[in-house]
Amino acid sequence: MRCKVCLEHAVVDIRRHNAAFCGPHLLDHIRNQVARAIKEFKMFGHDDRLLVAASGGKDSLALWDILLALGYDATGFYLSLGIGGYSSRSRKAAEDFAASRGAKLIVRSLEDEHGYTVPELAQLTGRVPCSGCGLNKRYEFNRAALEEGFDVLVTGHNLDDEVATLFGNVLHWNIDMLGRQAPVLEERVLGGDAGTPPALVRKVKPLVRVAERESAAYALVAGIDYIVEECPMVDGNTQHLYKEAITLIEESSPGTKHQMYFGFLKRAAHHFADQQDDAVVVACTNCGAPTVAGGPADPVCSFCKTKALAHHRRDQGVTPRRPARRRRSR
Ligand code: SF4
Ligand SMILES: [Zn+2]
Ligand SMILES: [Zn+2]
Repeated sequence: MRCKVCLEHAVVDIRRHNAAFCGPHLLDHIRNQVARAIKEFKMFGHDDRLLVAASGGKDSLALWDILLALGYDATGFYLSLGIGGYSSRSRKAAEDFAASRGAKLIVRSLEDEHGYTVPELAQLTGRVPCSGCGLNKRYEFNRAALEEGFDVLVTGHNLDDEVATLFGNVLHWNIDMLGRQAPVLEERVLGGDAGTPPALVRKVKPLVRVAERESAAYALVAGIDYIVEECPMVDGNTQHLYKEAITLIEESSPGTKHQMYFGFLKRAAHHFADQQDDAVVVACTNCGAPTVAGGPADPVCSFCKTKALAHHRRDQGVTPRRPARRRRSR
């Protein structure tokens, strides 16, 4: 297997591009794919302050590395979820990466900010861990970006992540979610009042042109010491299941993931876009954060409801229930 560019020994092949690359040309190729996505979807410019959600995994650290290499002003944000040794090791990976690149990393923890960890939240509410985790991450990422004055929140969702989400949304015909399935989610203001500061920060996904095994190869070649182990709470995560299913199809038909996602963006996404634009963002009457949860009739955000439930159950001495878990099929 030879590099498509220099004909030296290739370290990875990318079948959907019918190409293979040596280490240095793989780095160039992936950086070009990210630069192309940033330009194609008008994600941000070099004057914008970017906050990168850095989990310590391959995708977020590879993306952070690429943005720095492309000359962007990118700060990392690590949110500790309190998932035992997994959280300490992933935090260390994010901190070590920031130190190695001389980049700034902001660290917050759910326990310090809200008094619970992800496993505790799951036990107290009886919901699958990923549900509470996702809700808390979305809330905290947005809060941190606005409080710290960033223009854009950047996440490491790769092509596999987006295809798995799309697959799940189509399986269940989640029309609202299909309306939000885009590489860029524009900032939103309260009540739709133009001219007021954003309540929901602009969110972008520059890795949408990069598959999971490509970002892993990038991280290895770039010498990024990311956390390899999976989150121990992943078992109930249906997204993981969809990813495995799509990967099976991709193996026998390379290019399926790309076709499904970019075909959706080109041919179908506009049919659902109004669903997103019609929802009015109001301030949560409890925390002031933006919410579209119940609309003006019930303006308490889902985050506050979940947090209140967890603290109420703990105060009442309710014995934590085991979170619902689903077996992963193999
Ligand atoms: S697998 Fe679930 S619990 Fe673990 S970090 Fe991801 S969303 Fe959170
Ligand atoms: Zn080469
Ligand atoms: Zn709230």
